Amino acid sequence: MTKEWMNWYRETLLIDAHNDVVSKMKDGGLDFCQRQSATHSDLPRLLEAGVNLQVLALFAPPDSNKSVTLQRILSYAEYALDCVDRDPRLHLVLTKRDLEALSPAEGKLGVILGVEGGDCVGEELWILRLLYRLGVRLLTITWSNRNALADGIWEKDTRGGLTSFGKEVIKEMEALGMIIDVSHLAPAGFWDIAEVAAGPFIASHSNAAAVCPHPRNLSDEQIRCVADRGGVVGVNFYGPHLTEFGSASIDDIIRHIEHLWNVAGEDHVGLGTDYDGMDIVPRELEDVTCLPRLVEKLRQRGHSESRLEKFMGGNFLRVFKTVLPD
Ligand SMILES: [Zn+2]
Repeated sequence: MTKEWMNWYRETLLIDAHNDVVSKMKDGGLDFCQRQSATHSDLPRLLEAGVNLQVLALFAPPDSNKSVTLQRILSYAEYALDCVDRDPRLHLVLTKRDLEALSPAEGKLGVILGVEGGDCVGEELWILRLLYRLGVRLLTITWSNRNALADGIWEKDTRGGLTSFGKEVIKEMEALGMIIDVSHLAPAGFWDIAEVAAGPFIASHSNAAAVCPHPRNLSDEQIRCVADRGGVVGVNFYGPHLTEFGSASIDDIIRHIEHLWNVAGEDHVGLGTDYDGMDIVPRELEDVTCLPRLVEKLRQRGHSESRLEKFMGGNFLRVFKTVLPD
């Protein structure tokens, strides 16, 4: 990588729409603000990778007792907020103005708190509003299981979509200024959201089913729908979503990105790595500091700087600026 290219990379805004490191840090008694060896990412390495805005996913495995799930989500939110309070390199992004203040090459990391799975909301809109007040700005409507909002991808055979409560949640999220994330949803719920949501929505960490037919991946029709609505699909690095063999390399990710570009257009594709949410990482992208390598490979394949700038962060920035409150 030439020095000029590295400078260009550093000066380009980089957004990752999905990372699960918070639960790993909290459960392992580790400090996100210090360099760690047991994780794919931490604050020092995210900064080294040139990431400017990270969506930190707060995820608790489904539990039949919803108050247990809520407690765990709140404990992860408290952990993340504590990191923001004690480390001046971190700042919490809550508004459009916070997004405008993001500046590449500044040595700071903006974070958006996201909750992965609406299970913790139970059937109470006030819990959604409370999460918003705590700083949560993104909700992945389901994880792979069923919750009171909709069916996740494991339940796709029942063809269940959004419940009437799920529809209320979508409307409330748009009124508050929260980002709607359809990753993990079963197809019926996806199409219900396309009907109910007035604004753009995202698939924070989903790949293309035409390249790898995993149930978590999106059909071309779904990818086109996200794009038509002004949203973004974030490419994720999880092996089983990349190839049918489960293990993958940087080239497999590039096949998904180029397919997404072909189907959705360059204004609707971004990054949703899933670092620290996956057990298998692709070869050559073993941790977050390998991200420049991916962008460099895309450039070598002849993709323009303007296309790469949109992919690295411009597209998610556009959606977040549309959705977040003033
Ligand atoms: Zn996920």
